Amino acid sequence: MRRVSILGATGSIGQNTVDLIARNPDRFQVVALTGGANIDQLAADARALKAQLAVTAHAGHYQALRAALSGTGIEAAAGPEALIEAGARPADWVMSAIVGAAGLAPGLRALEQGATLALANKESLVCAGRLVLDTAQRHAARLLPVDSEHSAVFQALIGEDISAVERIVITASGGAFRDWPLEALKEATLEQASSHPNWAMGQRITIDSASMFNKALEVIETKEYFGISPEQIEVIVHPESIIHAMVGFRDGALMAHLGAPDMRHAIGYALNWPDRRHLPVARLDLAQLAQLNFRAPDAARYPALALARQVMRRGGLSGAVFNAAKERALDHFIAGRIGFLEMAATVEAVLDRFETDPGLIDAPMTLDNVTQTDHLARIRADETIGARAG
Ligand code: NDP
Ligand code: MG
Repeated sequence: MRRVSILGATGSIGQNTVDLIARNPDRFQVVALTGGANIDQLAADARALKAQLAVTAHAGHYQALRAALSGTGIEAAAGPEALIEAGARPADWVMSAIVGAAGLAPGLRALEQGATLALANKESLVCAGRLVLDTAQRHAARLLPVDSEHSAVFQALIGEDISAVERIVITASGGAFRDWPLEALKEATLEQASSHPNWAMGQRITIDSASMFNKALEVIETKEYFGISPEQIEVIVHPESIIHAMVGFRDGALMAHLGAPDMRHAIGYALNWPDRRHLPVARLDLAQLAQLNFRAPDAARYPALALARQVMRRGGLSGAVFNAAKERALDHFIAGRIGFLEMAATVEAVLDRFETDPGLIDAPMTLDNVTQTDHLARIRADETIGARAG
């Protein structure tokens, strides 16, 4: 029996993970599940999977969670500290699927106890790549990618020498607005940005797909996880989302990973690694697909991609600034306070403002410094947006 925990169990990735684990009850012993506001789902899954511990991120939901679990013997806990403790509960495998920088600290704790960390939370690598990798190394813990592109690259690299890699190409669907006229983007609504042409995902990553901030995060994630230089990372728009990534080798070979757009593949791969087991994902009918299309991403449509390049050039804690400013800009877009295109403008302005005090970005990458930088970048984003609105 493998002991497993799911951080962010009530989300889109979390629910797919719950599904895969529930199909194999005799292979897994569930240690901890965490969620946020969705107490009913959290309690139902904790009961169904016979978890030891259920944690909500919000202290205000503690009583509701406790009540929902009464008589089950399942421990209930709440708040950010309890989330971190959930990550620290001894387990063999931990899914990191909290959305945003909030996933960083619990994931680090999972690595510190030597667990294999299945990383859906790309923000961890964007904010604190070196810290995450060093923590894994120090505790002999393994980090497995769950993002579909990175899982694809990981699989294409099996048995290969990273020094023979010339380039990594990650695909992007282009999101909800890939075929919109550029002028119309300014007026794009929350509802329009919240639907994805191919993937069913949480609302935040869906909007980040429309703006390509998701791909921007993924480019940085690729650099951090695989340790290759930014110039070796390419993004190609591939509207069908069938090829998830390609690895180009120095002899000219380009190895592609194909699959239906279903996150249960990448999650199940990480869950079963290093084995491959049957997974309940659709098999591709290539004759029916008939063709796959590609186009270069349009820099004017997707300014987030250039910002990611700027962040990789800058290094230090600029990834934490970038991610936090993006999260805050997204909060404001969701709340209807800024337009779709103002998200990238806000992030750019916050990155520029940090350059007036470079000491902050060049501080050592500790969890405290990352957390403080994240906090300050959110304040700067609020100020920028306030300034814009005013
Ligand atoms: P969702 O929004 O669907 O779920 C997020 C999860 O995090 C939920 O369990 C939510 O709880 C919880 N949560 C929200 N805010 C906090 C907080 N402040 N502290 C602790 N927990 C919190 O997100 P996704 O599942 O779509 O994405 C999760 C992560 O995986 C993200 O990093 C995303 O980029 C990444 N990812 C997602 C993919 C996808 O297909 N969805 C693909 C590749 C990567 P509740 O809902 O109960 O409030
Ligand atoms: Mg992805």
